[in-house]
Amino acid sequence: MIVVLKPDAEPAQIDWISQKLASKGLELHSVSGQERTVLAVVGTTLPDPREIQLMPGVARVMRISKPYKLASREASAETSKVALRPNGPIVGGSQIVVMAGPCSIEGREKFLEIAKMVKEAGAGVVRGGAFKPRTSPYSFQGMGEEGLKILQEAGQTYDLATVTEVMSPGQVEMVNRYADVLQVGTRNMQNFELLKEVGQQDKPVLLKRGLAATIEELLMSAEYILSGPGNAQVILCERGIRTFEPSTRNTLDLSAIPVLRKLTHLPILVDPSHGTGVRTFVPCMAMAAVAAGADALMIECHQKPEEAFSDGAQSLFPQQLDKLMKDLSVIAPVVGKQMEGLHRRRVAPLSTPSDNKETVGLQGLSGSFSEKAIHQYFGTETPTQSYETFEQLFEAVNSGQVAYAMVPVENSLTGSIHINYDLLLEHEDLSIVGELKVRIQHNLVANPGVDIGDIETVFSHPQAAAQCDRFLSSNLAWKVVNMYDTAGSAEHIVKNSLVRSAAISSLAAAERLGLTVLKEGIESNPHNFTRFLVVTQKRSAKNVVGTPDKASVVFDTADTPGALYEALAYFSAHSINLKKLESRPIAGKPWEYMFYLDVEVPQESEKLDEALANLASQAPYFRELGRYKSAP
Ligand code: PEP
Ligand code: MN
Repeated sequence: MIVVLKPDAEPAQIDWISQKLASKGLELHSVSGQERTVLAVVGTTLPDPREIQLMPGVARVMRISKPYKLASREASAETSKVALRPNGPIVGGSQIVVMAGPCSIEGREKFLEIAKMVKEAGAGVVRGGAFKPRTSPYSFQGMGEEGLKILQEAGQTYDLATVTEVMSPGQVEMVNRYADVLQVGTRNMQNFELLKEVGQQDKPVLLKRGLAATIEELLMSAEYILSGPGNAQVILCERGIRTFEPSTRNTLDLSAIPVLRKLTHLPILVDPSHGTGVRTFVPCMAMAAVAAGADALMIECHQKPEEAFSDGAQSLFPQQLDKLMKDLSVIAPVVGKQMEGLHRRRVAPLSTPSDNKETVGLQGLSGSFSEKAIHQYFGTETPTQSYETFEQLFEAVNSGQVAYAMVPVENSLTGSIHINYDLLLEHEDLSIVGELKVRIQHNLVANPGVDIGDIETVFSHPQAAAQCDRFLSSNLAWKVVNMYDTAGSAEHIVKNSLVRSAAISSLAAAERLGLTVLKEGIESNPHNFTRFLVVTQKRSAKNVVGTPDKASVVFDTADTPGALYEALAYFSAHSINLKKLESRPIAGKPWEYMFYLDVEVPQESEKLDEALANLASQAPYFRELGRYKSAP
């Protein structure tokens, strides 16, 4: 704490203030300037600054150390990952978690129907209030314990985590029995007895910002929970604050996201439903929240919002929730994230009797973009296994050493990664079961102290170098040396303490290795995405859940006029949309080509079966590589 004294403070006053503070067990450091004296006050329990402010001779009092400790960023440089339940969604990692559901649980049938709709939209958590903090005592107060039972049943039926509000210390034990996440509502943010009680539990707590609470007050409330004897983890929620603006129910403070990110390691959820109170404002604010860095969203929805017992006006219709989830999945990769659930739930753990049921193989080291793809698709907890080459990776999944392989096949700037198409063709027992797109941002990184002017050599994966060719050609004196992967390039300059070299790598790899980022975002175009395929053994492909909307096949044609035209005519006749067609030379057969074809799976998937059967009957070679859910 800093105590700034008035310019006219008498030496006797300064002595008196110093004595008072010292008598409270505080240490004092006095700094006398030309105009005034400043006292630096240090101690474990500092007095209330307002008390000191009142002392004669004091001009101003400033606190320097933060009043919250466990919640502060200093306590952990990394954002905390909060697992909502075992094997459930994790808030705070590279996936965006959506909690959706009605304001109140209104009955069993109705709630189960909403839970199904939430699941189908791709959200991982269902919400619903059983105890409702209503402004009027005459409004619907919630179904109580019966509602909690319904919530639990819905979670179990649809494999969703559950969140619900607990309003008083006496309810904590009961709510804890049924729900995965305990919500402390806005009106209770400073109900300290409630905070202490939830701090005794080992369930995650969703703490909503009070209607008129500052960010510091929110963090102090989180501190109450974290300092409790339980194992409670906290997710902070921005849900709008009371301002003078009446056009929206509250003013959604999106700038709280970067502020909180700086001040605390706790993950951040945004609730645009209560934040705006108006249905049509919810999707755009949800997207803005994700773009601003939110880790999770809470969205109210209802099968018939106009009939909802509470907050119908801000609840989304089912189609709106579907559309929002799709839009979010396009925005998330721009900020380096992926929607939780949309992908992961499409691939169930394999039933192979090996230890590697869920291990996912990748080419490259930790910190590579393939690893990022795995984290985004399968979650950050998924065990991974690195391989040096793509051949080894395919071999590993083919032989069952790993359950899945994450295979890059195409980059939006440089085109197809042909080796992986060839390897897919070679391994007849493998099948594609999923797809995702990862935004790729490259950076020029070097050992600490190395200046951009010192550099003579740049180590890079050839793909990465190709994606940064404009930047690299801006300095023709640099020698570009090929490496196996992006993270490996960064590791190379660290291991050999190279001072005249830099590497092209991800920020994650640079951070892990303690490298300095000389220039961020050096790719030739920011629309730089790599498309990955999730590949597994054919016999395991049946574990894929969800409805595929894309199919990949490979075929060749007779060397006769119109052969390719005929092969494709069938798709056109059945209105099956072609997404991509690429020809590849057949290894060992000069001047002969295979065609790789991606098509949309039509509503009536028998049409596709017919078209493919037709193609198979006339093509000298035909193979279906897989049907899967396409990446947005
Ligand atoms: C709710 O989530 O249903 C709720 C009452 O929210 P808040 O506490 O943010 O008003
Ligand atoms: Mn509500």
